[in-house]
Amino acid sequence: MNKYTKITASVGPKSEDKQTLTQMIMAGANMFRLNFSHDTGDVQGKKIDTIRQISAELGKPVAIMIDLQGPKHRIGNFETENKYPLVIGQKFVFDTDSTPGNTTRVQLPDVDVLSSLNVGDRILLNDGKIEMRVDSASPSRVEATVIRGDEIWSRRGFNLPDTEIATSVLTPKDRADLEYAITKNPDWVAISFVQKPEDVAEVRDFITQRTAHPIKIIAKIERPNAVERITDIAAAADGIMIARGDLAVEVPFEEVPAISRHIIRECRKMNKPVIVATQMLGSMVNSEFPTRAEITDVANAAYLRADSTMTSEETTIGINPAGVIETMYKILAYADSDAIANPYDWSRVENIPENDWSRSVASMAYLNRASAIVVFARDTIAATQISCRKPDIPVIAVCNEAVIANQLCLARGVFPIYDNQLFGQRDAFNAARQFHINIGKLVIVDEDKISLRTLD
Ligand code: PGA
Ligand code: MN
Repeated sequence: MNKYTKITASVGPKSEDKQTLTQMIMAGANMFRLNFSHDTGDVQGKKIDTIRQISAELGKPVAIMIDLQGPKHRIGNFETENKYPLVIGQKFVFDTDSTPGNTTRVQLPDVDVLSSLNVGDRILLNDGKIEMRVDSASPSRVEATVIRGDEIWSRRGFNLPDTEIATSVLTPKDRADLEYAITKNPDWVAISFVQKPEDVAEVRDFITQRTAHPIKIIAKIERPNAVERITDIAAAADGIMIARGDLAVEVPFEEVPAISRHIIRECRKMNKPVIVATQMLGSMVNSEFPTRAEITDVANAAYLRADSTMTSEETTIGINPAGVIETMYKILAYADSDAIANPYDWSRVENIPENDWSRSVASMAYLNRASAIVVFARDTIAATQISCRKPDIPVIAVCNEAVIANQLCLARGVFPIYDNQLFGQRDAFNAARQFHINIGKLVIVDEDKISLRTLD
């Protein structure tokens, strides 16, 4: 039990069969991400059913996160599927005309986007390989100058780091996807391209109007305006994903590590779990071994006490998805053990009042050298908050509902058990023994009672 950092595994064509999903869970996957940018509807529904079935068969809580595509923008089609040359310094026009594009112009199908652009804004196409700057803007026509890039072709995605886009965070496709996903009772829903706390509120309203199931929301941070408002967004959401893929296009890439550290700290203060995502073991799409840089990146997420690392293409289209999870497990387990053996003084970077109850729980555990903290969890709040104090010992959460146990799969160092009997009997000793903790002291949190007991 030395891996505290959780693993979120993206599911795709190479990992959606029952055998691979089972192997991934056995190898240490705690949460699965189903990306609705690719499959939708019953195709995703079937994966959810399979994961639930395996989880029940193994008696192991596993979280399911639905990831909505969000307003990801693309340019229109060109006259042919060829690549069209661009010259630095030339003018290029984006307009509402659906006529196929050429070397001087192309349609920008999303009218909300066209009318949100202002003079001076950057337009970054094709993962930032092309950069243009807006010279003149009107709701139906934007003229820009090419700053970087030498070719452009049909349906390239683009990012607008300088533009506050006046559009709902839920596209019509997202609404349809979410409508369907809700019927499958997912544990978490991730929203892409969040810009402000109101976006989270909008999605929460959408969900609560349709279901009483307590679905939790992850805000994906991948826009500069979201980074600026991280504290408010973290307050509105139940968790955060540092979506480094789009983020590294929208902000200068060298800022991504600093932004990640900052977001992880803010999440700790706000008592919200945080996922570090994208390209963590990317080379394993085609390789059995990670690069040295990837090994270090995964370990650093653990050293920063993120709640979870995430896999993307390496488990969706890679050659050995279960091998990726085994690799990630090894790296996290070693880094987590090392971080505990050689601790860092978190009190210097934390801004939690001394009389905060979760801080008292963590100090009590620390001062008494407790072996574990046992929480009787009617909801996710107490266990999540204690986890955010990073006590570096297991937080065993005895839950009386499966959804609570599933949702706690994300929180760092929390080991959930769904067991009504243990919950009813308030049996902390038995809960600890299930994790082979037979000696030492337990800090027990049962509603507002905090107690210290010695295992016998
Ligand atoms: P995506 O999100 O894979 O859905 O784009 C993650 C990211 O942008 O890093
Ligand atoms: Mn993204």
